[in-house]
Amino acid sequence: MNRQIVLGLLVAVGAVSVTAAYQAQPDAPKVVTVEKLKDNLYLLKGGGGNTAVLVGASGVVVVDTKNPGWGQPILDQIKGITDKPVTTIINTHTHGDHVSGNVEFPATVDVVVQDNTKANMENMASPPGFPAGTNIFKANGGRGMPKRTFTDKMTLGTGADRVDLYYFGRGHTNGDAFVVFPALRVAHAGDIFSGKNLPLLDMNNGGSGVEIGNTLQKAHDGIKNVDSVITGHSTVMPWADLGQYAQFNKDFLADVRAGVTAGKTPDEIAAASKLAEKYAGYTIQPARLKSNVEAVAAEIKK
Ligand SMILES: [Zn+2]
Repeated sequence: MNRQIVLGLLVAVGAVSVTAAYQAQPDAPKVVTVEKLKDNLYLLKGGGGNTAVLVGASGVVVVDTKNPGWGQPILDQIKGITDKPVTTIINTHTHGDHVSGNVEFPATVDVVVQDNTKANMENMASPPGFPAGTNIFKANGGRGMPKRTFTDKMTLGTGADRVDLYYFGRGHTNGDAFVVFPALRVAHAGDIFSGKNLPLLDMNNGGSGVEIGNTLQKAHDGIKNVDSVITGHSTVMPWADLGQYAQFNKDFLADVRAGVTAGKTPDEIAAASKLAEKYAGYTIQPARLKSNVEAVAAEIKK
């Protein structure tokens, strides 16, 4: 078995998704594209994290609302899909590229998040290395803030409209929700699976590089009867890819742990490693590699 599993293959990378979230481009046209995934489920891309739109019998459920200024473009596209009103927003986690559009939806809309995400949204702290921004919810008098929260599991709606929310532990943040549409066998993972790359470990919002692999594994093993997963910023992938991503993160942790035990510095650990063949197609962002090795090494030593 190749112990040098995850690190080292420095693939050139384009726009790294989460970075884009914090770089406002106020003058660019706000183009949201719509992809029909199932009869009543749509994927809206552009302007931040991936947005899922479920059209139910009595209303529309929206998962994640993108960057500031992108709520109205989402609403405009929903108008082209259905006459039904948006009744519910679910935010997968606190980041500005997943929650900021909330403030542009009608104040009557129910907003549901995991407990820790609500606490994080009170502060809207930026991840390490990102500039501090304004708290969009405070700037809007609390509009768009969560009205309901869950701890480990919550079910909304019934039958074809049913949505199951799960929390399995720390990872990208300490409030990453998995949103499941059981009738459609589709889940939205948010940024705990942003794509096939190194995760952003947001230690300012409770993230953990020691826990993320276990959390992903629990989600993969604990959520049944799902065929495909909407990633936070990439494509829709087979559910098995979430299991592989859990292993990728566990392998990364094992590599860093072995390096720390051997007395290596984070730079040495990063430089000595290779991407295993089984992770072909993964992107290793050079800056993220360095920061994640440092963060995980520090977390191990705690
Ligand atoms: Zn995020």
